[in-house]
Amino acid sequence: MPDLKLLGDEPTIEEREAIDTAIASLHQHGTTGIHKKRHLLLPALQAAQERVGWISEGAFNHICKTLEVPPADAYGTATFYALLAVEPRAKRVLHVCEDVACMPRGSGALIAELERTVGPAAHHGPEGSHVEIADSDAVWLKSPCLGLCDHAPAAFLQVAGEKPIEHLFGDVTMDTIRAALGGALDIARVARPKIPQAGQPHLRLLQRVDVVDPTSLDDYRAHGGYAALRRATEIGPAGVVREVTDSKLMGRGGAAFPTGRKWEAVAKQTVRPHYIICNADESEPGTFKDRSIMEGDPFSLVESMTIAAYATGCEFGYIYLRGEYPLAHERLTNAMAKARARGLLGNDILGTGFNFDMEIRKGGGAYICGEETSIFNSIEGFRGEPRNKPPFPVESGVFHRPTLINNVETLVNVLAIVTEGGPAFAKTGTEASTGPKLFCLSGCVERPGVYEVPFGATLRELIDLAGGVADGKKLGSILLGGASGLFIGPEDLDMPLTFEGVKASHATLGSGVILVLDDSVEMLPILQRIAAFFRDESCGQCVPCRVGTVRQEEALARIAAGTPIGDMKTEISLLDDIGLVMKDASICGLGQTAYSAIESAIHRLKVIA
Ligand code: SF4
Repeated sequence: MPDLKLLGDEPTIEEREAIDTAIASLHQHGTTGIHKKRHLLLPALQAAQERVGWISEGAFNHICKTLEVPPADAYGTATFYALLAVEPRAKRVLHVCEDVACMPRGSGALIAELERTVGPAAHHGPEGSHVEIADSDAVWLKSPCLGLCDHAPAAFLQVAGEKPIEHLFGDVTMDTIRAALGGALDIARVARPKIPQAGQPHLRLLQRVDVVDPTSLDDYRAHGGYAALRRATEIGPAGVVREVTDSKLMGRGGAAFPTGRKWEAVAKQTVRPHYIICNADESEPGTFKDRSIMEGDPFSLVESMTIAAYATGCEFGYIYLRGEYPLAHERLTNAMAKARARGLLGNDILGTGFNFDMEIRKGGGAYICGEETSIFNSIEGFRGEPRNKPPFPVESGVFHRPTLINNVETLVNVLAIVTEGGPAFAKTGTEASTGPKLFCLSGCVERPGVYEVPFGATLRELIDLAGGVADGKKLGSILLGGASGLFIGPEDLDMPLTFEGVKASHATLGSGVILVLDDSVEMLPILQRIAAFFRDESCGQCVPCRVGTVRQEEALARIAAGTPIGDMKTEISLLDDIGLVMKDASICGLGQTAYSAIESAIHRLKVIA
């Protein structure tokens, strides 16, 4: 064993058991060299924390000895993730969303009340303070978007112990917050309402959500499940890739890359093994569509990943799932186990000789891990920092092997493509934007939720579907595409929501966020929150983003306080300069888009006089 510079501390019996169980439960699937054990680091750290509430030096020592990782290195990884604590912390932790979709739904007042009656929020990271709540051992933290914007304001509860509890819940009130902190929240009684379009006949991506029993494979099959995999095995891998290419399906994660081209590129790689990753780290503020599918129709993701793996020759797959989605985790785990038990995962799937299996890797609370190369680093057990491209994932992805990476919505489209055929699928939508599309309506609308429409619907139609602007108020602005997207005004309501339509209006679809703000919402606090979000989530790897996001936040704070350096014009020009440098010189999309929404609010909406 190399000299790891281990610490002297020993884990408790509970910590040791939790860590060893987590490590033993995960697949090894042919990882070699440095990757052989290191890829178990994040799950092992998470297991220690879930058992006792934080990662002690004894736990670090045991993990590092078992996985042969130097403690300093493991500490660097642990401190990268906001959900992990490396100092003693309460076993009960409540994360209360303070992000842009919860702001217009009252999160600010809730947080102010919480600060007044309970005490200040603890801080993320090693310097976190600890706030005792009455007789319970609880702490609360402010959180970035939790992906439950359709039920804003949202909160996420974690309780460490022998049977750890995680619960994401919405429509939060001071009563539910107090109950959660005091251990009196009846989780079984805070079920979520159905999605607004549940059961409507035109749905394809959402057809089974809130219709089938998401825990039952039989119910899934009774509603058309696994017909696509059967058809895929009839037409063969090349046939599936051809159908996906003919469908003209573009990736739904934000980059809009042609899916068929990606699949073809992975399929032809001669280096083995190939991996498939589903990017389910949906953490763009205002986005919750993938959660709706994973919670409501989990078998559809397992089936579509199996088809993608079959078509591109992948032996193993990961669902990289954001850490704040415990119900999706539970439902996907159940779906994989049931598929495995029926010969739909594992060896010789459907008697075809095709072998494929998959597992879930839970994120640690880092927005940047929605970036594909950050996911590779995270799965491998390193800090989730983006890598330079090239090489591209199709050649060198996770474990430096050819990797197919698609997001949830992209993959689930494949079921219809394989069943109907690519050309038939391409008839829906427009020439350049084919198929159905999910949009996340949140903020000041009557019925926030995920909505499915064929590509080509206008922004006005989407907002009408969601019941229009809430409380009869006037539309102020719309954040399209999330925090990395742009603000647009009421004059753009007839913009067709297609890739080409938004491009013509110098906007972006991003991950399908439509955050509606009425004209009473103050814009500067929203912009300050976006700036704080990017400052907090920047991985710090490159200077333009690391420094630029801080300077951007500072300039907005001066503007909000009415104390600009020089005058407002000078501050805006400074913001423009910072934004340009971040856009031009940052390594990844986070830095490149960190000024986009703020810039559009300043220059399109003229929110700063
Ligand atoms: Fe990290 Fe920001 Fe650079 Fe991306 S742009 S690599 S998030 S510092």
